[in-house]
Parts: sequence; C-alpha cells; structure tokens
Amino acid sequence: MTKNLSINYIEIVNEYLLIAWNGGEESMILLKALRDNCPCAHCSGEVDALGNIYIGPHKQLKDENYILRSIDQVGHYALKPIWQDGHNNGLYTYKLLKHIANFGAEK
Ligand SMILES: [Zn+2]
Repeated sequence: MTKNLSINYIEIVNEYLLIAWNGGEESMILLKALRDNCPCAHCSGEVDALGNIYIGPHKQLKDENYILRSIDQVGHYALKPIWQDGHNNGLYTYKLLKHIANFGAEK
C-alpha cells in the first residue's frame, strides 16, 4: 500500500512543525526532534573513500539552534528547514518526516 505522499500545508505552531498530509493525516514534529535528526552530512557524519564514518564533535546545541526561521519545499518529496543559526543543509524527505513524527519525539 504505497500511495504518493504530498503535503497540503505546513505550519509552525510554537515549538512544533505541523504537517497536513494529502491523506488528511497530520503530523506534529517537535522542532528539537527535527533538528536532532538532521540528515545532512555535517550532522549525521560523513563517509570517506575507505568507508570510515566521521561524525563531528557532537556540540551542544543552543536554544537558537532549534528555532526554525523558515521552511522550503523541495520538489514533491522533501522539506528543507532553515534554522535560526543559518543551518540549512538538511533535506528531510517525506518518509523521514513521517519517521521522525512517529519515533523521533519519544524522549
Ligand atoms: Zn545538519
């Protein structure tokens, strides 16, 4: 059962990102969970030619790092948040967003 996901609208509600999916379902994603699951190479580690994974020092993020400045829609498959600190490398596919919404905010 794979139907094509699309987003009807996105809204930032306090510290949450609300996504209304085309099927009528809504996801509330804590911005902190969103940032902590940033899929970009810088945040999730880079793999070199030998297959070693380098993860930068896990620096303690400050409050401003979790403030969402704006969010761009990328094609019909992903969102790109632009954070208050200027970080905007993370491309969150719809699939990843669903995953974070379901599992990312448990702690
Ligand atoms: Zn990142």
